Amino acid sequence: MIGFADQIAELTSYRDRDQLDVALASALKDLLQPRSVTIQRCVGEGDERHWLTRARLSGNSSVATFDGSWTELHMLPKLVPGDPRSLSYSEQRMVLRPGPPHLTYFPLYGGDAVVGVIEIETEAAPDENAQRTVQGVLRIYQNFERLLHYSERDSLTGLLNRKTFDETFLKATADLELPPEHLSDGRRVGGSPCGYWIGVIDIDHFKRVNDRFGHLIGDEVLLLLSRLMGRSFRIHDRLYRFGGEEFLVLMRCHGEDDAAQAFERFRSNTELFQFPQVGTVTVSVGFTAVRPADTPSGAFERADKAVYHAKANGRNQVCSHADLLASGVLVENNAKLGDVELF
Ligand code: GH3
Ligand code: MG
Ligand code: MG
Repeated sequence: MIGFADQIAELTSYRDRDQLDVALASALKDLLQPRSVTIQRCVGEGDERHWLTRARLSGNSSVATFDGSWTELHMLPKLVPGDPRSLSYSEQRMVLRPGPPHLTYFPLYGGDAVVGVIEIETEAAPDENAQRTVQGVLRIYQNFERLLHYSERDSLTGLLNRKTFDETFLKATADLELPPEHLSDGRRVGGSPCGYWIGVIDIDHFKRVNDRFGHLIGDEVLLLLSRLMGRSFRIHDRLYRFGGEEFLVLMRCHGEDDAAQAFERFRSNTELFQFPQVGTVTVSVGFTAVRPADTPSGAFERADKAVYHAKANGRNQVCSHADLLASGVLVENNAKLGDVELF
């Protein structure tokens, strides 16, 4: 009982998602002593769904292994419809694949939706006591995770809120200067070298939408635009609502052209979308590469200056901070990395 209480206290002490999932695997391992515990999230859509390992503990090791959250989809194992793992996920119930070793799958919830599974590998099939222990730990994890989920999200659009940006930015970009073999403990990252880009998106003349159609319709435009963002950007891109009608994207890309294409695709999708009652709406976008030793506010300021330029030059366009520097429209302030001045 004391072990159980300790595990629950440990589990609910984390705000960091990675640590939380490792703590869940560790609690289940200590309580059940299985061969291994693996927490996997289902990522991707339709026929392109894959399993991303969030935490795996096996044998006597206390060090969890996991896939970096930016790992390319095609490097991850594919979801096989009808196998015990995907049955547990799609039917949201415990599924046992008899062994030995026995594999027991439990659905894993995030927010209010099922997001993955927990796989527990044991010598003997887990008895009713063991099953109830797992289900009890999962209920506590899920209640806590739901609280975290709502504290990180904007209530209108469901996108991440501004206060989570600094943390994710620093964590995501911490490895920018490190060669791949020095990535954080246990992480397996694949693909060619990447960098990070951020883009600030601001709706054009949004005040006119509110003035003409009212705030409720304005809110619906914000909601539909956030869904359009979800469809236009890639599965790993982090999408934020930064304030009123301003959004931000943190993405991992192979280069400036790759980032420019992604933002241009979104700008064009927005321009073509028919918003009920309102008709069409456009957005201005400014983006910048994240530099080594960048701060969240330094990177944001550069992208914001690029949006400012887009607004001042006709709106409905994507502006790259690097291009504006190269063409002399903006100058770098050398006093502090990341500061630039407008002419
Ligand atoms: P610009 O093209 O220069 O960005 O013009 P704009 O009208 O979009 O920008 P401005 O900053 O003048 O106005 C932003 C408007 O966004 C004003 C405010 O009423 C509206 N707004 C901010 N938050 C919300 C919200 O949560 N819901 C709704 N409906 N409107 C909002
Ligand atoms: Mg605006
Ligand atoms: Mg604005």
